[in-house]
Amino acid sequence: MTSDTTQTDPVAAETEALQELITRARVVLWDFDGPICRLFAGHAAAKVADDLVDWLEGQGLRGLLSEAERRSLDPHIVLRAVDRRHPGSDLVDELEERLTQEELRATSSAMPTPYADPLIRTWTAVGSRLAITTNNSPRVVRTYLAGRGLTACFSPHIYGRTQELSHLKPDPHCLNRALNAMGSAPSAALMIGDTPSDLFAANEAGVPFLGYARNDHKEKLLRDAGATAVVASLEPVLNLLRAQA
Ligand SMILES: [Mg+2]
Repeated sequence: MTSDTTQTDPVAAETEALQELITRARVVLWDFDGPICRLFAGHAAAKVADDLVDWLEGQGLRGLLSEAERRSLDPHIVLRAVDRRHPGSDLVDELEERLTQEELRATSSAMPTPYADPLIRTWTAVGSRLAITTNNSPRVVRTYLAGRGLTACFSPHIYGRTQELSHLKPDPHCLNRALNAMGSAPSAALMIGDTPSDLFAANEAGVPFLGYARNDHKEKLLRDAGATAVVASLEPVLNLLRAQA
């Protein structure tokens, strides 16, 4: 009776699934904005996207974006849209640099994700290897990590946006770069991400996925995309890791 109850208890089942994900992970691939910090916490991403759109319009290039892209309020959607129409152009380089400058400005007001810092340190201490696999600029990631004293936990494995924008997630390029550089099989790794594009990239690379959702909306997006393991806080991950150490 008791064991039946345990087996069908969804909370116990989820804890067990989480434990399994954590135990198997020799390499942990972190998305940056979301699981590690809220990059634009004090500096809205929507405003950054708007500024990029305004700049394009100032160049007489309003017609490059569809109405939906202009209204997306997502700087990466704007960037990818321009890249699709003018791949590898100076225009794309200029836009990418503008986004990087905005991201660099945002690092000073970025809000660390609760439990991310101790989780990163603990995972490093128990011998797992960590990498960052992000659509943000690697310069931004390095600046943030240095400010938190976390550089050594990841260095040199920071794989971010390059001039090749078709490689942004959901393309698995940055995950594959990390796996190759670290000599890791996909199944021995774990990706932690907060958006469906992280999940799709992980699936494509064959890497198990743990979703981090700081609110119900983000959780629904992840679950609708097919994520089966999603946590609302990194605290239970830290507790499980400490319990097995
Ligand atoms: Mg993210």
